[in-house]
Amino acid sequence: MSLKKDLRCPHCEGREVWHIAEMHERGEAGVLERPIQPLNVVLQERFFKLYSGTGTFETYICKGCGFTEWYAHGLDELHADEKHGVRLLDGRAAEDGPYR
Ligand SMILES: [Zn+2]
Repeated sequence: MSLKKDLRCPHCEGREVWHIAEMHERGEAGVLERPIQPLNVVLQERFFKLYSGTGTFETYICKGCGFTEWYAHGLDELHADEKHGVRLLDGRAAEDGPYR
């Protein structure tokens, strides 16, 4: 059961669901042209100490209990970065492995 698919909360059975198409955060102070910006999934280093955001979040929130489902979008350019804890876990690899 999921808020997104069923419009029913798996925790409290609530049927009223807030949909937030894109989660935002406050922009850089004093930068008036960008008072708000998307909350990014990760910040990735493009050049030396210059970071740009990758990915955005959509959420479904139960009005009754606040349970929240997060869905990430725009991750095509995401790359693994072990140093910063970004890893792609592949469940298929475990299934195909030698130790079935
Ligand atoms: Zn709920």
